[in-house]
Amino acid sequence: MGAIAVIGAQWGDEAKGKIVHHLCRRARMCVRFNGGANAGHTVEDARGTARLHLVPCGALYPGCQGVIGHGVTVDPWVLTDELGGILAQGRSHPELLLSERAHLVLPHHRLEEEREGVAERLGTTRRGVGPCYADRAARRGLRLADLADERRVREHLRAARVAGDGFDPEQVVEDLLRFRERFAAHIGDARAAIAGALERGEGVVFEGAQGTLLDLDFGTYPYATSSTTTVHGIGWGTGISTARVERVLGVTKAYTTRVGEGPFPTEERGEIGDRLRTAGREYGATTGRPRRCGWLDLVALRYAHAVNAFTELALTKLDVLSGLREIRVAVGYRIGGQRVTGFPPRAEDLARAEPIYEVLRGWEEDIAGIRDYERLPSAARHFVRFVEAQVGVSVTFIGTGPGEEAIIVRGRR
Ligand code: GDP
Repeated sequence: MGAIAVIGAQWGDEAKGKIVHHLCRRARMCVRFNGGANAGHTVEDARGTARLHLVPCGALYPGCQGVIGHGVTVDPWVLTDELGGILAQGRSHPELLLSERAHLVLPHHRLEEEREGVAERLGTTRRGVGPCYADRAARRGLRLADLADERRVREHLRAARVAGDGFDPEQVVEDLLRFRERFAAHIGDARAAIAGALERGEGVVFEGAQGTLLDLDFGTYPYATSSTTTVHGIGWGTGISTARVERVLGVTKAYTTRVGEGPFPTEERGEIGDRLRTAGREYGATTGRPRRCGWLDLVALRYAHAVNAFTELALTKLDVLSGLREIRVAVGYRIGGQRVTGFPPRAEDLARAEPIYEVLRGWEEDIAGIRDYERLPSAARHFVRFVEAQVGVSVTFIGTGPGEEAIIVRGRR
């Protein structure tokens, strides 16, 4: 099966979790390369709903190892809780490998996000991920490999003045050492392990967190996340060259959502937005915040394709559009009276963009759970073909409901 990347093509929450989980049935490894506990991937299967923040989705399958690359910020407290939750659902303990080069999210990172008003201003998830990446870039972070050196851990926490923040540094040290003890056998050279799996021809799924439009460089800066969310994050966050990735699957909803602040040209604040939010259950998996909702934006999707060179698309949550008389899709923008087809680099310009819509026919039929493309109403098939033609990429997966079986799988055209 080779290497396949699953990349969010919008502002995150594209239902990547379900697609990754589906692909991992046949994979040996599921690899996270970016973000941290600010991600929230949901998998709904026979054992219930698993909300994962750090554990790679595929690791819920026995036989598929979850690998956390060095580009991921690891919060040991969140990871420990999450594993507890997974075991409580009667699942087996996921097989994990954490990169020794990954940086640790420490209690003061969360506080920093609050104190500096970053969470408020940019609408971040308050998980301390941004401050952890900032420490990494400033070369003052603590990495998983450092946990083997107790003195180093103590000194680090002293220098970070954890005590002044109301944390008991002794307790933090103790927690970290206990974490190290529990995971010692699972902290190692993740890059070499992934390279080995690829050498042996095993299936490796790279699970992107957040989406292209939240990328630190290609996203709507500064309303962005602090990591590389695009396909390029694979090299950045694991050390495996993107040249080794055979399939790049872009995941997009049949409409658009965004959490937190920042420009969103196709946002619908009225009835349509409410309807999409209710039908799509659009509330954040990490924060519970209601998501902003609007129409599908093909300007943004074409841009995401330009950045990632998708080999195929997954179009999720198509069932949410059922019952709408007409469906709008943005095919261009007008900014200050000028028609533009590109995605502007400045958030200020994007905020002024007025979408130019193409209006497509809707469908009445409930399509929930359909697994055969030919059984979709003709208007729904037309919608899919319209997206394919506009972006120039085949849609190979279509989501038709929350459950893991509610998916149409098609070949590439
Ligand atoms: P991720 O972060 O990209 O994995 O997205 P989330 O996990 O936040 O969102 C996925 C949510 O949407 C989960 O509750 C899924 O069960 C649900 N979901 C996934 N695919 C579909 C679909 O095709 N239709 C509907 N209605 N819900 C879906």
